[in-house]
Amino acid sequence: MGALALACTGLAACRAPEVASFRVADAAPIELRLPPECEHWRAPLVSECADVARAFARLAARWPQARAHGPEPAPLRLLVAADLAEAAALYQVLQLDGDPKVARTFRQQRLAIVPLPRRDALLTQRPLPPLTWRQTLRHEMAHLLSLDRPQLQAAPAWFQEGLAEDCTDSWRTGAPQAPGMAHGVAVLALRDFLDRQPGGRAAFEALADAPGEARLMAWRIAAERACRESPQSEPWRAVQGWTLADLRLALGEVPAGEPAFVGREVDPPAPVSGAGAEELLLASWPGETVAVRAHPGFLESASRALVAQVGRSGTPEAGFVIAGAGGQQLRVRLSKFGGFAARLEPLGSAATHPLQDLPADGAIGTPREFQIQQSGGVLRLRSGDWKEAFPLQPPLRLQFYVRDGALKVTLR
Ligand SMILES: [Zn+2]
Repeated sequence: MGALALACTGLAACRAPEVASFRVADAAPIELRLPPECEHWRAPLVSECADVARAFARLAARWPQARAHGPEPAPLRLLVAADLAEAAALYQVLQLDGDPKVARTFRQQRLAIVPLPRRDALLTQRPLPPLTWRQTLRHEMAHLLSLDRPQLQAAPAWFQEGLAEDCTDSWRTGAPQAPGMAHGVAVLALRDFLDRQPGGRAAFEALADAPGEARLMAWRIAAERACRESPQSEPWRAVQGWTLADLRLALGEVPAGEPAFVGREVDPPAPVSGAGAEELLLASWPGETVAVRAHPGFLESASRALVAQVGRSGTPEAGFVIAGAGGQQLRVRLSKFGGFAARLEPLGSAATHPLQDLPADGAIGTPREFQIQQSGGVLRLRSGDWKEAFPLQPPLRLQFYVRDGALKVTLR
């Protein structure tokens, strides 16, 4: 581990002048340990680390850092596990308790372990890990940085979680992604929970019954509001009497569009530099499903193309669905070998039809290109020599999904 360890502050300082002028010098450095196949993520993740440290220093300025008397404190360490098996092995070696699937910071050991969802080249070959995973990384980095601020360590757990979550991105500046994209699901889950609860309930007690993502969003909103309203060192007191009605009012200030994806881990469609195309990646946790929508405008053009590639890992059920206005949807299922099967089904159906028409003679990892044309309520799908027309009424919505696997798509 020592050979891979690298102080994030040190590297950031040599990379870019604007980072060098930023003082992380007082903070303990963070050693970042990456799986060998992900070494190329080091520079961007180190700069992500500097970004979190900057955001955190601003948020946590009121809680002074502990001054070390005597020996230097042990460095803070952030270990990225290549998959769940490696995370479990790390837990065993380091004698840690907990579910290795859940990213976690261990106060005593001054380390955080953040596992990747799966070992798949489609994931590890990317220039950066998926957006949703980087949010988790940022959350744990904030927990690590808070270890050296004792007054903050004494805060209620909900406040510490909310503050860490506030470091995952900023919905006020819009960076690093449009707010509705990432927060939509959590905001909807929280709104749904609040709709079913009497507004007079004490918020922090009632939230114990809320789904995890809704709870985290609520804590984030409350922590952010507390810091804004109170300059004191115990700002959580400003909101600790909140009812669910207060929380609902505060939630109204959070911008969130319709959710663009469900599940983890996701890189939503983003432009590929210089290619005039967009790319997206889905990499699900073992046995789980993740889905992402294409921008609504994508299918408004008469003619589009996409290239889909299913990763080698897992037992993937992958593909895309084009939903029309007339109660029908076209499902295209994709195999690891570049094969596919396309058919119409009632809107909202699950992928249940048999896979026998998926050719299995291609090489594993073969990408498959599709041309999509539409006019007059007919969608024409073409791939190589194969073509078929499907009656589908616009407006059309396109969604990609994968269960237990990885899927990379280029949209043109
Ligand atoms: Zn946390």
